[in-house]
Amino acid sequence: SYDEFYVKSVIRSLPDWPEPGVLFRDITPIFKDPRALRMVADAFIHRYVDTGITHIACIDARGFLFGSILAHQLNLPLVLVRKKGKLPGDTIHQEYKLEYGSAAVEMQSDSVGAGDRVLLFDDLIATGGTILAACTLIKKLGAEVVEAAALIDLPDLKGSALIQEAGVPVYTLLAYE
Ligand code: IMP
Repeated sequence: SYDEFYVKSVIRSLPDWPEPGVLFRDITPIFKDPRALRMVADAFIHRYVDTGITHIACIDARGFLFGSILAHQLNLPLVLVRKKGKLPGDTIHQEYKLEYGSAAVEMQSDSVGAGDRVLLFDDLIATGGTILAACTLIKKLGAEVVEAAALIDLPDLKGSALIQEAGVPVYTLLAYE
């Protein structure tokens, strides 16, 4: 069964990466530890089984790793939110602000549409900018974001609060204050 202490013991914290002053939470060791990966995946599968979600949208790139497991286990279509310039065909994109400069996420125009009830998934919520930009895209395509989920929340950065203020429920397994 789910053991928060165990999952947290597997996540690595790296000071001053990718730049000085940032404490980076590295989730890649979870993928080297089948017990931790199964705990995390099962927790999300349990939450979203039989909830009327029609699609899982996952965010480039670590969101893909979890999204694909959830889509398989929940037997749902998986659609990708990618960094701009990676997806072929008709796409729409949304820019958002970073601490320095800006970034943009992109989706294929036919990935979701009216009536779809989407679970949006990423590995971690920091300022919330990435998830909010993805929500904008999903809504532009006519679909509803039922919930934004992530393995980790950094509540001090207030991203999860911002997402909820925008009317999208947020669910995370772990928080690092
Ligand atoms: P936000 O847009 O500021 O919420 O940043 C979230 C995005 O940045 C997610 O796609 C994360 O993968 C990535 N990110 C930011 N900080 C960390 C971290 O400490 N560990 C892992 N990913 C992070």
